[in-house]
Amino acid sequence: MSKSLTRDVKEAALKLGADLVGIASVDRFFDAPPEHDPKRALPETRTLISVAIRHLRGVQFTQKRLRDNYPYQIFGYGWLSHIRINTLLFELARVLEDRGYIALPYPSFCDADPTKGHEDPKPAASPAMATVSNRHAAVAAGIAQFGLCNLAMTEEFGTCQRFGTIMTSAPLEPDPMIAKPLCNNCGKCVEACPSRAIGSEPEVSFQIGDQTINIAALKRPRCYWYHFGLSKKTYGVLDIDEPEEITREIFEQNLCDALAKSRYMRDRYQKTFAPAGYCGMCLLSCPMGKYKLK
Ligand code: SF4
Ligand code: SF4
Repeated sequence: MSKSLTRDVKEAALKLGADLVGIASVDRFFDAPPEHDPKRALPETRTLISVAIRHLRGVQFTQKRLRDNYPYQIFGYGWLSHIRINTLLFELARVLEDRGYIALPYPSFCDADPTKGHEDPKPAASPAMATVSNRHAAVAAGIAQFGLCNLAMTEEFGTCQRFGTIMTSAPLEPDPMIAKPLCNNCGKCVEACPSRAIGSEPEVSFQIGDQTINIAALKRPRCYWYHFGLSKKTYGVLDIDEPEEITREIFEQNLCDALAKSRYMRDRYQKTFAPAGYCGMCLLSCPMGKYKLK
């Protein structure tokens, strides 16, 4: 393991705009299903670099107060992940390649089909999701821990940041994983969820490194009803009556109908670099995080 290379890579990540950066050894992913094994995408992977950029407080407050969704969709969601973090990952991967190591920046935001494979509540068990989960990588790299609501939380920013991941052959020095709990199980995320998508008790277990993670089950089709803008209880463009039971087929049909009806919604997809980001009340309601404004 190279201490000086690790220091250089971390410094480069911070210079490129990361608020947080950590390193995981690939063996911490031993419990990942084969489709989520980092070596599936890049067999040379020895270590993973996880970076995070925080949400701006002004963007958080405006979204949470139900004043305006547009800043959050761009600076808290689509642009932040698709453009800002991906740019950081691309530049950081170039730094590693210049030092002679192969590096795969994994596009922040998976290209998952939101209508498929989400019945299994285990977050890393869906074949419709990306090879590497940025949240799992952040936990493995010692910058985050899972909160009850399935979000990765950091000591600095609670649930309010976005993550990105690079897989690399570089022999970087892994950071220790966070040992103390960051989530106090207060349930504020569960209460804030307008779609009752988050279970109130930990029900799902998996292993990262030597830690057993316990989180609530997330009913993704229920979440997506709000996250993809089908309800005006948050910022939905249309207001479609929410059925008691929302399966992925029901969600998919309603989303397709909504898109067919609303040109504004289709335009929004393009302007905000994401088809979603109309809710986020779970992460905005979490009280944790040391970073405070004056
Ligand atoms: S994004 Fe909204 S609907 Fe989805 S889990 Fe969070 S609070 Fe619930
Ligand atoms: S709101 Fe409370 S229960 Fe939910 S993630 Fe934050 S600390 Fe944990």
